Amino acid sequence: MKILVINSGSSSIKYELFDAEDLEILASGLVEKIGEHGSALNHKTFTKLKETSQYSKQLPIPDHNIALKCILDILLHPEHGVIKDSSQIVAVGHRVVHGGELFHRTTIIDDKVIQAIRENIHLAPLHNPPNLKGIEVAREVFPGAVQVAVFDTAFHHTIPKKAFLYALPLELYEREKIRRYGFHGTSHSYVAEQASRFLDIPPGQLNLITIHLGNGASMAAIQGGKCIDTSMGMTPLEGLVMGTRSGDIDPALPFFLAEHLGMSYDDINELLNKESGLKGLCGTNDMREVIRMRDAGDERASLALEIYCYRIKKYIGAYFAALGRLDAIVFTAGIGENSPEVRERSCSGLGHLGIELDKQRNFSSSGIREINTDTSQVKVLVIPTNEELKIAMETLKALEHTRD
Ligand code: ADP
Repeated sequence: MKILVINSGSSSIKYELFDAEDLEILASGLVEKIGEHGSALNHKTFTKLKETSQYSKQLPIPDHNIALKCILDILLHPEHGVIKDSSQIVAVGHRVVHGGELFHRTTIIDDKVIQAIRENIHLAPLHNPPNLKGIEVAREVFPGAVQVAVFDTAFHHTIPKKAFLYALPLELYEREKIRRYGFHGTSHSYVAEQASRFLDIPPGQLNLITIHLGNGASMAAIQGGKCIDTSMGMTPLEGLVMGTRSGDIDPALPFFLAEHLGMSYDDINELLNKESGLKGLCGTNDMREVIRMRDAGDERASLALEIYCYRIKKYIGAYFAALGRLDAIVFTAGIGENSPEVRERSCSGLGHLGIELDKQRNFSSSGIREINTDTSQVKVLVIPTNEELKIAMETLKALEHTRD
């Protein structure tokens, strides 16, 4: 029995295949540039977590349906495949970005669920339509498999009203559901579970600040295993400085941009989501490049790094205050896992809060690790995230419920 995890974007589908017995990864890949010139399939297989083969091919992939059929073909391929028959795939787990207020947990997909996700499209117009497309084609290509939706927003459903409501006329929440939802929930919940295991403290007794720093970036305050606040909002634009997103700004800025610079709604949307953040400040959204540029004496890159880490530090302070007691801070995702400098700067000067990084430990690499000093009251951990594995775990749990 196998579980296929799918992350369907507007022009790409990422996939990973897991063995349902032990959740070991068997294959992963990406179909990119769907419907565009140069579409391609990149596929890898694994045995005992070690990569065993790689396969890349450019081929015309006009739509998501063909993309998923290509994925099935390669999974069945005599040389690069890992299954003999499509019926071995018993469940497909789908990443769905926005579950709105309707979905608090992983959900088995039926027509009603599809309709409800469709009704949430206005909340995530960029993400939910391609996620839905992935669900629809997976139902066609794998008709015998249980289809499961895992929502990025679900982990944040425990956030109380005082933290999720904006100070806007309340009818905007009641009528239009305008509120903070939060994203990256799969990652925050995965690393929180890992932290609980690593520290050997039950989730119900553990207070954490989890810091996910990928291209998108967000933080969560987790009290006794439940999320009580998070930095992304109604959309993923709010909060930390990101690769290309501004994060928090004065909400009056868009009016100023429109009035004084004549920018249109679309221009402003593009500016805040695609041209801001690290890219806006120094020209690149890639943190490795920012650090390289800074090392070569680029002042803008130096400033971008400073602003990026200062924002994280401010949120650490805010979430520490919200939590009251803090057991550990967890860094994760591309930058969180790989940049000792970002971790050091984000935690620097927080000794009075009991947060002390150990310089040497901070430079150790790979796996789950503790990077605080022995005297630090708060643990600081680096925990590699694995959103696909978490989706597979959730999918397996949902599948087991259907068999109870
Ligand atoms: P995504 O949100 O696309 O999944 P990732 O979690 O892969 O993103 O994170 C991408 C970010 O991680 C990029 O900014 C990249 O520069 C950064 N990154 C990866 N490796 C390193 C490293 N060794 N040092 C600093 N940043 C890194």
